[in-house]
Amino acid sequence: MKIVVLDGYTLNPGDLSWGGFEALGEFTCYERTEAQDIVSRIGDAQAVITNKTPLSRETLEACPSVQYIGVLATGYNVVDTIAAAERKIPVCNIPTYGTNSVAQMVCAHLLNICHRVQDHSNSVLKGDWSECADFCYWNSPLIELAEKTMGIIGFGRIGQATARMAQGLGMKVLAFDEYPNKDLEGEHLRYGTLEEVLAESDVISLHCPLFPSTEGIINKDSITKMKDGVIIINTSRGPLIVEQDLAEALETGKVYAAGLDVVSTEPIQKDNPLLGAKNCFITPHIAWAPREARSRLMNIAVENLKGFLSGNIENRVN
Ligand code: NAD
Repeated sequence: MKIVVLDGYTLNPGDLSWGGFEALGEFTCYERTEAQDIVSRIGDAQAVITNKTPLSRETLEACPSVQYIGVLATGYNVVDTIAAAERKIPVCNIPTYGTNSVAQMVCAHLLNICHRVQDHSNSVLKGDWSECADFCYWNSPLIELAEKTMGIIGFGRIGQATARMAQGLGMKVLAFDEYPNKDLEGEHLRYGTLEEVLAESDVISLHCPLFPSTEGIINKDSITKMKDGVIIINTSRGPLIVEQDLAEALETGKVYAAGLDVVSTEPIQKDNPLLGAKNCFITPHIAWAPREARSRLMNIAVENLKGFLSGNIENRVN
């Protein structure tokens, strides 16, 4: 079997092995593939593996040898799954691999906002402490999280992992989910309505998927309902936030700070209003990317292809 990976670089920039795939057939991996090269690179391969390179109906029509599509991610919107199903091509994704990594990133953003570790270290390294008249100083407000309320919108795998970490910091958790599981409630964790989460939270962390119903869930109107000085963390999907509205709320201080791992268009556009907004911290969509999580993702992707080859297909989405 010929196996082609169209865009393997972000999963494996060199610190993992493609050996699992190599053992299954004639294997070719491209780091990235531009639109005009997709068809020629697939050629007569039977298994196509993609992360973000689109596989459209036209591409599948032009590549009749394709029998299997593996997606190196949870989201599979880059593949025309209906066109694939019509051609009896299974599409398999990786439903979960980095829950703890993403929750940890929420904490990284939150603790950065509360302590500005890097900023203070930079300040010390450039000599500010040596010049200081006192034994200590700080350049930004320092915030203790214990007893504060962490509002979590979307209480699935990552939301719940985030809640466990927040409770470890002594926070109370107020969760909103379309399908609440009341068994999860406890002394420091309860469900509320979206209105309650907006009104009562000191920190709001977004963990719902991007659906038409959740797009722009953080906007001028919902921000107005939040506490003054709220902190917003988004590691889910950029379009959950109306970025212009958040940028304005950061400027006025209504929102004290934001920690974002995702933005509306990625890579971020130079004119994104959040670039340069006050107290806005942005990382380049890396919550999923600790080596441990990528390694897990790689193993599941290999197992998916093995499952297809042995007739026991798993994680099929179409
Ligand atoms: P999940 O499916 O386990 O949980 C999502 C939860 O959101 C579910 O409980 C669901 O009931 C709830 N939900 C759905 N619609 C809702 C709505 N309208 N309002 C409130 N809640 C709603 O998913 P997960 O594994 O926890 O992942 C959550 C999101 O994290 C993913 O959709 C993805 O966008 C994002 N993610 C980001 C990264 C990253 O690197 N930054 C990595 C992985 C996942």
